[in-house]
Amino acid sequence: MAGSNQDIDWKALGHRYFPLKVYYQHLFGTRVQKISLDGGFTCPNVDGTVATGGCTFCDNKAFSPSRRVRRDAIQSQIERGITGLRRRYDSEKFIAYFQPATNTYGPLDKLRILWDTALEDERVVGLIIGTRPDCVPDDVLDLVDEYAENTYVSLELGVQTIHNASLDWMNRGHHHDAAVDAIQRCQGRNFELSLHIMLGLPGETHAMMMDTARQVAEWNVEGVKIHNLYAVERTKLADQVRSGEVKLMEMDEYLEVLADFLELLPPWMVIERISGDAPPTNLVAPDWCLGKGTIIQTLKDIMQQRDSYQGDAFSVVKS
Ligand code: SF4
Repeated sequence: MAGSNQDIDWKALGHRYFPLKVYYQHLFGTRVQKISLDGGFTCPNVDGTVATGGCTFCDNKAFSPSRRVRRDAIQSQIERGITGLRRRYDSEKFIAYFQPATNTYGPLDKLRILWDTALEDERVVGLIIGTRPDCVPDDVLDLVDEYAENTYVSLELGVQTIHNASLDWMNRGHHHDAAVDAIQRCQGRNFELSLHIMLGLPGETHAMMMDTARQVAEWNVEGVKIHNLYAVERTKLADQVRSGEVKLMEMDEYLEVLADFLELLPPWMVIERISGDAPPTNLVAPDWCLGKGTIIQTLKDIMQQRDSYQGDAFSVVKS
């Protein structure tokens, strides 16, 4: 699917992997920030359709099955988001990121209203739609495709891992075959596809995580968001971490695995995230997640010491 980014020379910019900000600069000609929007969705893994309780790491207590968000509420979320981002960044363009819960889990007319409302704002230059692999029927993909004919659209699928035992452990409510099916049905469409992947899941060996990397490389999607397993308040995982039942990766261990993972991916795949992202007040563990600058620098140091880059082991994948 991906491959059109091959002319972007991110190595010349001093990077060891292809970061999102370089891709956006290339695509939009300027710095672009994401505005996180709550479209008022719930999740089939919360409302009982697939399961109840949701994924063990997900703070989903607020996802009531009948949530509705008014059109003007989306407009004010955008306004608030832009005001907040402009305090920190010099950005003129923004992407509407439908992030919490499952953002394709609703009738098509609701999706249209939300996406049209977001795109009415001239400063909004695209959409990112976060969802689950088992919530993208063909009519939803057709609609996403329709929007992608005229604007930038990325569909974010929560794949997390290719291993069914891990998906069961996290109470995911679907297995790997759901991701395979969804990704196959996304092939050849206008929108970009980005996958969420978690490293450090209990019971996953280094070899298992590399198997996930090889599968992501083979899928050849446009982007991937990778992060370590981390715990936030109001989740089952938080209890498991506090009781010692689940042990989370230390930073150095995670970054060595991450470097191995990145080396297996194609060099044109955009790396949208490399670590967990939770507000300090909500994070239970590990604390090192909060040190973004240290994480980025340490990964760079590790890859420099190895003299390696994203994609260095990709030819091995394809052979
Ligand atoms: S992580 Fe996603 S799929 Fe899992 S319960 Fe939360 S919203 Fe649903």
